[in-house]
This record gives sequence, structure tokens and C-alpha cells, in this order.
Amino acid sequence: MNCTDFLAKLTDYFDGQIDPTLLVEVKEHLGTCHHCEVVVDTTRKTIDVYRGAQTYEFPDELANRLRAAVMDRCKTVGKYPDVEKRASEPVAKHS
Ligand SMILES: [Zn+2]
Repeated sequence: MNCTDFLAKLTDYFDGQIDPTLLVEVKEHLGTCHHCEVVVDTTRKTIDVYRGAQTYEFPDELANRLRAAVMDRCKTVGKYPDVEKRASEPVAKHS
């Protein structure tokens, strides 16, 4: 699992909908990748805020922002050579 795979599972992870096998991989990745560890930490705090305010729904805007931030960092580090082509996949437009 790399950062892209991890981010694809992030919403499932927070929803508790994740497959146990994947959960092991997610936790493994978290143990080795500081970027994603920070993302999870930030996301958890953000979710707490949302939960306090209204019915919780994982916001697309947040997911896109997190994804962009991690991709940016991973590219800078150069640790994941496949990030460049994956990052060029179409993403939701900002309104
Ligand atoms: Zn990562």
C-alpha cells in the first residue's frame, strides 16, 4: 500500500466500513508513513468538529484537499515514483 492506496481507503477507514485485511494494510502504512499519519490525525480532529456541528458526512472538499496535500508532500520527498502519473488522474473541480 502506498499513499494513493491509503487515501482511497481513508473514508472507509473513518466510517469503520473497511475490510479487516485492508485495515491491517492501512495500519501498516500509517506506521511507516508520517505524511499519512498526519493526515489521519488532522482528519480525525476535523471530523470531531463536524460531528459537533451537524450530522456527520465525510466532506468531498476535505478529502480532495487532503489528497492534494499528501500528493504534494510525497512528490517533494520523491519517495513514491508512481505518484506523478496517478496524480494526473481527473479530480473533482472546485466550484
Ligand atoms: Zn502515506
